[in-house]
Amino acid sequence: MKVFKFGGASLESIERIQLVAAILQSYPDQQLLIVISAMGKTTNELEKVAQNFYMRKREIAAQLLHNIEQQHLDVAEKLLGNRNNPVFEQLQQFFTEAEWTLGEKPLRQYDYYYDQLVSLGELLSTAIMSAYFNLAGIANTWLDVRDIFRTDDTFRDANIDWDWTQRNVTEKVLPLFKHTNIVIAQGFIGSTDQNESVTLGREGSDYSAAVFANLLNAESQTIWKDVEGLKNADPKLFPNTINIPEISFSEVIEMAYYGAQVIHPKTIKPLYLKHIPLYVKSFLNKDLPGTVIREDVDVKQLPPIIVLKKNQVLLTITSRDFSFITEDRISDIYEMFHKHKIKINLMQNAAISFSCCIDNSSEKIELLMKALHDDFKIAYFEGLELLTVRYNKDGLLEELSKDRTVLLEQRSPVTIQRLLK
Ligand code: ASP
Ligand code: MG
Repeated sequence: MKVFKFGGASLESIERIQLVAAILQSYPDQQLLIVISAMGKTTNELEKVAQNFYMRKREIAAQLLHNIEQQHLDVAEKLLGNRNNPVFEQLQQFFTEAEWTLGEKPLRQYDYYYDQLVSLGELLSTAIMSAYFNLAGIANTWLDVRDIFRTDDTFRDANIDWDWTQRNVTEKVLPLFKHTNIVIAQGFIGSTDQNESVTLGREGSDYSAAVFANLLNAESQTIWKDVEGLKNADPKLFPNTINIPEISFSEVIEMAYYGAQVIHPKTIKPLYLKHIPLYVKSFLNKDLPGTVIREDVDVKQLPPIIVLKKNQVLLTITSRDFSFITEDRISDIYEMFHKHKIKINLMQNAAISFSCCIDNSSEKIELLMKALHDDFKIAYFEGLELLTVRYNKDGLLEELSKDRTVLLEQRSPVTIQRLLK
């Protein structure tokens, strides 16, 4: 059994969907569990529906939902040739349920409604793909992953209940492969024990695929993207990036931690625990070798790895009464960051001050500064970039930070980080 994941970009146009079909056709007689995200930018559009609904701008929400409906019906009709396929009834049912939600008074927390509405994107895309693939001779079974992925009720960032989900996978998913070699499920979503829909965090479909791979003991997982594979830097930010043929799980976890937007960071652990290799390949050219992420890859063959995190803020927190910032105070400060859900990307402490670099999210930072105000003076600089280089080679770091001011720097034998103005 293999697990494949196709993201929104691979379903962005009819031509791309046909490329996906061709990929599936090139794996005949293989058992494939396929995880699919919402088409194109649907999730962003559904977020707007949820926001308007919650601000009680119901008409705008209904209009935005209607636009999404038209786009999906159009794509489905183009793929299926007409509107006679039973999938149109299924789509209609999904839209009716979403309209019911829009008819409710928003009495519960926003994140709950967000999940009820935003989960629609994956239900629509998988229903359409499943119908289209069946018509194209790629026999498959559509699965509602909300009957399988049981989670807690942390809406928008739900946690998988592994025991329940394992039982569901064994009892309900494995038997489906008796009928077809291909099973198609939604990424990104699940459900609570109250049958409320949940989402697993933006870009969470990579993680959904890894959960399936783990619980099915798959031989491998493949993420099909619009790039050739994993690169040593983001090609949108740096020229002359190099493709990495092989890399270890731990290296990828580090890259994700430093801010590389390669793969959803939660994806690695379920695969690592079961020794399941992860392939990253291009759906635009399925014959390119791509990247394999697995255990025990020698770092000697790695090029320098560059990660740039933009929109960073430097906070310097100084005690007002000149008392030292030692363990107990650091622990208080840390507690505050934790409470305000602010992740520290880099930190350094001195006698009476503590400096750290964080993502810029003004509301959270304002609350944090208020909470620390009585005991600490806080200096704040925004508009910074955090550059991380692993396996630096001669002159590279200097070249990358040329003409910039370095506000904070940290070095280990492998990793150098610089906060740049
Ligand atoms: N459709 C969701 C998102 O855009 C999940 C995913 O793409 O992985 O965030
Ligand atoms: Mg997406």
